[in-house]
Formats: sequence, C-alpha cells, structure tokens
Amino acid sequence: MVDPIIIDGSKGEGGGQVVRSSLALSMVTGRPVTIDRVRAGRAKPGLKRQHLTALRAAQEICQATVTGDTIGSSSFTFHPGEVVPGNYHFAIGTAGSATLVLQAILPPLLIAKRPSRLILEGGTHNPWAPPFDFLQRSYLALVNRMGPRVSATLERAGFYPAGGGRFIVEIEPAKRTESLTHSPDAPGDLGLSSFHMLERGEIRSRIGRVLLCNLPDHIADRELEELARLAQWEPDCLFRERTKAHGPGNAVVIEVAGEHVTEVFIGIGEQGTKAEVVAQRAFEEMRDYLVADVPIGPHLADQLLLPMALSAWQTDTPDHRRQGSFRTMRLTEHSKTHIAVLQAFLNTSIVIEEEERGESFIVKIQGEAAASN
Ligand code: ATP
Repeated sequence: MVDPIIIDGSKGEGGGQVVRSSLALSMVTGRPVTIDRVRAGRAKPGLKRQHLTALRAAQEICQATVTGDTIGSSSFTFHPGEVVPGNYHFAIGTAGSATLVLQAILPPLLIAKRPSRLILEGGTHNPWAPPFDFLQRSYLALVNRMGPRVSATLERAGFYPAGGGRFIVEIEPAKRTESLTHSPDAPGDLGLSSFHMLERGEIRSRIGRVLLCNLPDHIADRELEELARLAQWEPDCLFRERTKAHGPGNAVVIEVAGEHVTEVFIGIGEQGTKAEVVAQRAFEEMRDYLVADVPIGPHLADQLLLPMALSAWQTDTPDHRRQGSFRTMRLTEHSKTHIAVLQAFLNTSIVIEEEERGESFIVKIQGEAAASN
C-alpha cells in the first residue's frame, strides 16, 4: 500500500490549481491524495462546480475511490485505480471552465497505453482560465513536441453566464517502451522527450481576432479600432469571427507566432466593461510579453511545468538525468504554488534562475531519481 500524500490546499496561492494538478499527479503516480483546506486562499473556498467536475472526471477515468466530493467541500480524498484510456464525455453544467477540467485528466492520458477521445462541455472562454485558442494554438502545440499527439477542435464556444461550450480532444499518447510501473520513484519510460525553449526566435506573425456572438457588431468594430490604434496594426492582421454559442459572448484574442513558439493573449468581454478596455487587456498582456523578450509567457510557464516535470521524472536509464528548461518572465505566485505541488509527488528538482537584467528567468527541471541511485 502506497502512502497517501497530504496536501494543504491553503498553501501558497491556495487556489484550484492545487486540486487539478494533485488529481493528475495522483493518477500518474498511483499515489492516493488527501487535500485539506481546499481553495482556502479564495473568497469562496471549497470545491466549485468546475473543480468537482474535474474530480468526478478523474474518478471516472481511473475508477478512483473518493470521499468529500460535494460542492463547497473543504477536504477530499482520492484513491486512484488504473487509468483507463478511451471515450469520455464530461459536462460541467455551468459556464465553469472546461479547459481547466482538461488540466486534471490530460496528464495521465498523455502517457496511457491507448488513445483517448474526450468531449468537454462548459466554458471555453472564461476570465482567469485558459481560453480554447490558447489551449489549441499554444499549449497543446508544445505538449506535442514532447511526444504525444493531441488535437483540440472547438464545436461551440462557451461564455459566462450561459456556458454550453463544447470541444473535442483527441489524444494519442507518447510512445513508450514499457508500461508505467506505478512506482512513484521509478516510473520507467513514459515516452516523453525533453523540452527546452530558451529563445522565441523571429516573430513571424501577429494576429488580432474578435470573437462575437449574439451581440451587436459595433462591439467588434470598437475593439478592432482600439487594437489597431494601440498596436499600430494594419487591417490585414485584424479579423472578426461570428462564433456559435448558447448566449452572448465576446473575446479579443491575440496570437503572436514566433519562430519556435506561438503565444495567445486574451481579453474577455463582460457586461459593464467597455469594448476598448477588453482590447486593452489583451494588448497589454502581449506588450509585456514582447518587451520581456522571452519565448514563454506566464500562463504557458505555469502549465508547461507539469508535463515537463513528468518528462524529468522518468527513469528510463539508471544514469540518465532528464532535463528540461525554458526562459520566461517573473514566475507568478500561482506558478510557485504549482511547483510545490509537483515536488510533493515527483522526485524532481525545479530551479528558477534570474537572468542579469532581472526581467527574465530560466526555469530548469531535472529528474532526481537517477541522481540519488
Ligand atoms: P480559483 O477559483 O481557486 O482561482 P481556478 O480553479 O479558477 O481557481 P487557478 O488556480 O486560478 O484556477 O488556475 C487558473 C489556470 O488558468 C492556471 O493554469 C492559469 O495558467 C490558467 N490561465 C488563467 N488565465 C489564462 C490566460 N489568459 N491564458 C492562458 N491560461 C490562463
């Protein structure tokens, strides 16, 4: 019987990431987990609908034994069984972010024995969550460089408050030479290749897109005008798109494609926020990223940590210390909390080195199991 890991959900940023990453890592390592003081750092602590859907989705894909799985719950336990890849359908039932639910279940399916196909329903363009465009164009594009083949297709956008967005994720796991041993310290080969991203390379294109549904055209006009004014972009890189959704919705999506990486920045329209402000939010995120002159922005940094830590955790050859690295901006509290969760489960070292100007940082992730042999 493997000892459970006890996580204090109030530590660090004390948000929902602790829940999702703990579930993913519990399934990957086979170690049971107990999370106390769930989301204690938030104004309304405990499990929200999105976290509960992630917990139930994780339970379903590995037939876990779970306690404390109710809305508002401040503590739960999760005893994973074997992960069963296959066809699944998970619906949040509110506008809660479906891309966040994916965060909890994607990692074990990336290293599973067979492919999976997921249908996810809920919000696809929420504030404070990965927008679908970021998931598809930025995050999954980099995950695929580590070996798996994952594609995401949007069928319908989901905005607050109506929700009802829907997308499909097809996962072909990384090819590995042996099966996962479920030994927390010696997982063997997971098929994940090392990932390094220190330079962005030349910027190849910049595109601004306004997504709009069930709202008047003048909103898109004003957002595009503001983006053109701020970024001094010509009309040929500014687009509008009428999307399908159950309710009204609006987002400004900026895509910056560098030679080595594509980053996506977003402003989400909401009642009471001027169209110009929505465009400004997306623009300011892009501007900060371009000024920092790094390949990996804050959200990508946050989310790449998990697959990279899995890659470093592999023990395919006894004397091989897997490594990964990327250059990014100053790490957020969110990322630091995430690192603490990763290190509670995986025997890896994650070091943040400040560069000369103090504006960029190199994150180095390295497996330790081999080193301690
Ligand atoms: P809580 O309600 O407790 O804050 P949560 O479950 O909504 O929690 P967080 O813990 O705040 O979520 O995690 C949010 C996740 O969404 C992180 O992985 C973060 O990187 C990602 N994220 C937030 N905004 C963006 C964005 N604009 N682009 C890409 N990813 C984003």
